[in-house]
Amino acid sequence: MDLRFNTKCVQGGYTPGNGEPRQIPIIQSTTFKYDTSEDMGKLFDLEASGYFYSRLQNPTCDHVAAKICELEGGTAAMLTGSGQAANFYAVFNIAGCGDHVVSSASIYGGTYNLFAVTMKRMGIEVTFVDPDCTEEELNAAFRPNTKAVFGETIANPALTVLDIEKFAKAAHAHGVPLIVDNTFATPVNCRPFEWGADIVTHSTTKYMDGHGAAVGGCIVDSGKFDWTAYPEKFACLCTPDESYHGVTYTERFGLAGAYITKATAQLMRDLGSVQSPQSAFILNLGLESLHVRMKRHCENALAVATYLEQHPKISWVNYCSLPGNKYYDLAQKYLPNGSCGVVSFGIKGGRAAAEVFMKHLKVGAIETHVADARTCILHPASSTHRQMNDAELAAAGVGADLVRMSCGLEDAQDLIEDIAQALEQV
Ligand SMILES: *Cc1c(COP(=O)(O)O)cnc(C)c1O
Repeated sequence: MDLRFNTKCVQGGYTPGNGEPRQIPIIQSTTFKYDTSEDMGKLFDLEASGYFYSRLQNPTCDHVAAKICELEGGTAAMLTGSGQAANFYAVFNIAGCGDHVVSSASIYGGTYNLFAVTMKRMGIEVTFVDPDCTEEELNAAFRPNTKAVFGETIANPALTVLDIEKFAKAAHAHGVPLIVDNTFATPVNCRPFEWGADIVTHSTTKYMDGHGAAVGGCIVDSGKFDWTAYPEKFACLCTPDESYHGVTYTERFGLAGAYITKATAQLMRDLGSVQSPQSAFILNLGLESLHVRMKRHCENALAVATYLEQHPKISWVNYCSLPGNKYYDLAQKYLPNGSCGVVSFGIKGGRAAAEVFMKHLKVGAIETHVADARTCILHPASSTHRQMNDAELAAAGVGADLVRMSCGLEDAQDLIEDIAQALEQV
């Protein structure tokens, strides 16, 4: 039976047999037992599928990955220990020393550092492009050694909306896949594969968990990118892997499984950023209500943004689902049912006014986090970006007056009244 999206949120990824646990069991075991060495040898040669060590695969994690795979409409998926690990593996699986990647410049700060600093040290160069660039400008960023294109559906924290079709078209014209970090939108609000993306990543720490309880990540492959059309460029997938007794991933696992099998067999084996079965279990509890929660996060954010927009002490509001926003049209196209719960805005009076406002909030809590059931709020100029002066902040697109509010699942009227009383103190 072809189940609908909401049902997959609740029941996807795991179908218990007769008399088996109704909830996904937490297989809290590092290792798995076999009767003969021959049985185990087949696993090491990737000739049989099965579990042998939880750094590579664990049944609890696999059930949860399978659910996210269904939600995104992919062919294979894996959990990772964090969103950072997911984005690193997603790129490093197909790009190595001497290679190049094109990325939207409007991305999460952690991913920006990963690309601009750490991966550069590994010999992978990243060219950052303005997400609003023309097709010509985008095409000009490619080089013969480009291996992937990267962007975020809704960028954290700039809240820009990626024109996925434009980026997918350019990627495919140059024979490389488009990787989209879909953390903020979640598959409830956007399914990037339907717009041409090839690989999707998530920080499951955010809405998927949704309760501020477990750090985690996920990579999903659409199975649509044909690595074998570019066997030299993607030799890592199309030629024998000597570290796995000469297996050729595309031959053995097909387009549906090659990319994730390689990431599991090679990157998890060697780098080991696994998600624990306990965390995967918690993540699944979040996924069971993702479709219900996202709706409320978006309703609350729209109510808050609409309220802020008319407030005399607020200088600007940035929320892509708000009419008049620069990304409103793109949001209507890619995120017609809602975008996310995060709103950013500026308080008249800059840094000092923002600090007073923050101090007086009673429902919203000051946290370096987003996408939680509880409303959280951050003033980057006095916290995450406090080493920068006002001019440096402006250049980074994070003004001294900018406040980022992640609207939780509380009553919207309480959030608005809390904002109102805190603004009175300014
Ligand atoms: C938080 C975040 C990440 C990093 O995820 P962690 O789970 O914190 O490692 C990556 N991308 C986006 C869009 C994020 O919001």
